[in-house]
Parts: sequence; C-alpha cells; structure tokens
Amino acid sequence: METPNGTVVVIEDDHHISDLVAMYLRRDGFRVLQSDDGESGLDHIEREQPRLVIIDIGLAGEIDGFEVCRRLRKTGEIPVIILSARDEEFDRILGLELGADDYVTKPFSARELLARIHAILRRSSVSAPSLSPAIHAVGLVEVDTARREVRTPAGSVALTTREFDLLAYLATNLGIALSRRQLLDGVWGEGWYGDERTVDVHVRQLRKKLGDDLPLITVWGVGYRLG
Ligand code: CA
Repeated sequence: METPNGTVVVIEDDHHISDLVAMYLRRDGFRVLQSDDGESGLDHIEREQPRLVIIDIGLAGEIDGFEVCRRLRKTGEIPVIILSARDEEFDRILGLELGADDYVTKPFSARELLARIHAILRRSSVSAPSLSPAIHAVGLVEVDTARREVRTPAGSVALTTREFDLLAYLATNLGIALSRRQLLDGVWGEGWYGDERTVDVHVRQLRKKLGDDLPLITVWGVGYRLG
C-alpha cells in the first residue's frame, strides 16, 4: 500500500473514534498503527518512530495520555496531538506543558484534525532547513539550529520541538519585541488557529528549563523579546 505521508500512531481506547481517525488518515496517505492503551502505544512508537502521534488523554490502564506525552518528551522529537473529551483549561495547559504540539477537543471533525496534522508536519519538516544553520549565542545559552541543540554552561538541555522552534525564532530576531501573534505565525505557522496563551505556556517552559541563563524578556502590552 502507498503511504507517502509516513506513519502515524493513534492511541485511543474508544474504538469508534480510533477507527474513524485511522480511516481518514489512511485515505490521506498515512500508514496508521492503532493502540488502545498507553503501553502498547509506546511500544509502537519505539518500534516504528512515527512522524506523528495522536493521543487520547483518558486511557484505560496505568499510562494515560499525559504520561505517554511525558515519556515521549524524554526520548525524542516526535510531534504529538492530544485528543480530549474535556475542554478544560487545565488539561490543555498541562498537555502543552508536557510538550504536545496541539490539542483537539472532542467532538472534532476529521477535516479539522487533518488540517492540524498537516500544519504540524509542515512545520516539523520545514522548520529546521528554513532557518539558516547558525549558532546563536544568547545570554549564556547557545542555540544551534543546525544540530537543533541548546547548550548552557551546565550542558545541553532537552527541549520539545515547539520549544526549540520558539527559541530559535526569538534568537534569529534577537533584540526585537515580538507579539504573541507574530510568534504564532512564525513558529506555529500562519493559519494556526488557537489560543495566544499557547505562546505563554511555551515561554514558561523555556524559562523553567533555561532559567537565568536565558534573557527572555516579557514586553508588557506586546509580547516577548530575547536579549
Ligand atoms: Ca478514552
């Protein structure tokens, strides 16, 4: 079977939703592996190194969607979309903090989900090459866009794909105050429709991980500036 778009792992214990998502993805040229619990989902991910993972938050068993996300973030850079029946601020923020790239609330349309998937894949495939490879020194932090590495005096720091892209974008616009909208357009891609507070969540994560080594300034009434 032709699967030009690569492999997606879907972890969802509602078989109706899982089958529906899988059907649309296959029709769209993806190879799809379905799991109905976190353990087997993680197995699939480890074996197949998919291009994207779609995770339901509420999973039966020991490992819920948040935990899958947490473990994924320790090991790599695979983009994650969280599915949730709960449209609660807390879940959304927690999901994004754990490194999810997007968050879709049930019920969702197949079209909406596919649009988000393509937006994320477009980003993760173009983001690295579109930045001219460079090492930006910002405060005590080195942002290496060729190797996609971030180094501090204490060693290299693991960032999620989105956190790295945000930091790299700020670093290439050093000293310029950028609005949340500009950051969303530049990092999440134009046409990304979501909450501007998504930027704040990622900024908070960058500050948490890089601390005082990173001169990431809040510009009141505008947004953020690096350096
Ligand atoms: Ca569920």
